[in-house]
Amino acid sequence: MKTVRLNNGVEMPMEGFGVFQIPEDSCEQVVKDAIDLGYRLIDTASSYQNEKAVGRAVKSCDVPREKLFITTKAYIQQMGYEKTKQAFQESLDNLGLQYLDLYLIHMPFGDYYGSWRALEELYREGKVRAIGVCNFLPDRLLDLYYNSEISPQINQIERHPHYQRKEDLEIMDELNVQPQAWAPFAEGLKGMFDEPILKEIAEKYKKTVAQVILRWNVQQGVIVIPKSVHRERMRENLDIWNFKLEDADMERIGSLDKNCPSMLDTRKVSEVKRVYDYLNNPVLTSL
Ligand code: NAP
Repeated sequence: MKTVRLNNGVEMPMEGFGVFQIPEDSCEQVVKDAIDLGYRLIDTASSYQNEKAVGRAVKSCDVPREKLFITTKAYIQQMGYEKTKQAFQESLDNLGLQYLDLYLIHMPFGDYYGSWRALEELYREGKVRAIGVCNFLPDRLLDLYYNSEISPQINQIERHPHYQRKEDLEIMDELNVQPQAWAPFAEGLKGMFDEPILKEIAEKYKKTVAQVILRWNVQQGVIVIPKSVHRERMRENLDIWNFKLEDADMERIGSLDKNCPSMLDTRKVSEVKRVYDYLNNPVLTSL
């Protein structure tokens, strides 16, 4: 497994395992399987409501804690200095850990500057090895960069062949913020696995479409965190380190960009309103 050195010197695996939408009751076994197959980076969030299961898997697996890289996130309702400090401790307790490898602000909404001050403090106290953000568009990332003492180590963003985000990657490169792709398969939506160009390329390298997508990301220096509840797919998604896509194939994948997110598009006013409708409606449990 290749690693990448973050702007604070911490080494982070280039591929990890995401646990979004994995129910608490099955998540422990799924994460155990993932670790058993070789995943070392596990990506959860307080909003996924499965931190306790991830913690049990970490505790009972055969891999020492220091060889694992555990990420979790503070959600929108946990923004603001005090709330984020409390949220961090709750997540740590849920996970049963003494420290986190990476703590992220999940969404750029609410008092995330207050939250960033909390993350900076937790980092200085040694409670977390790296800090970062998710879903920050270039303008917000740049503004945070200019207004923070510790600049983010990571920006975790939706990225796949239908939403390639060239400008986002350019600004992250300029600021030395490591990009990490969530939903690398666009959750399988909008025909991602049936793209003829991806199928042709997969056939050429005797790989699967999933492997081509993951390889395309890591070859551009983007960390990936695919999710699967199936052992065979977990294994398949890990098997991307023994081939290299030629430049011409990278360009062909480049031609698939539709500038189209699969779920939430916070560039749109209507979508931002949807976030606040969710926040103001306790009946809804997720976006
Ligand atoms: P994803 O990884 O793009 O796609 C997961 C879907 O693809 C599942 O339906 C899975 O099905 C299927 N799949 C996985 N491997 C496959 C393969 N080899 N062949 C065919 N189908 C395959 O979507 P995601 O879970 O939304 O994103 C990955 C991780 O990113 C999340 O788990 C989470 O940790 C993180 N994330 C972060 C944010 C954020 O705002 N920061 C948002 C969303 C997600 P099965 O499980 O049935 O195999």
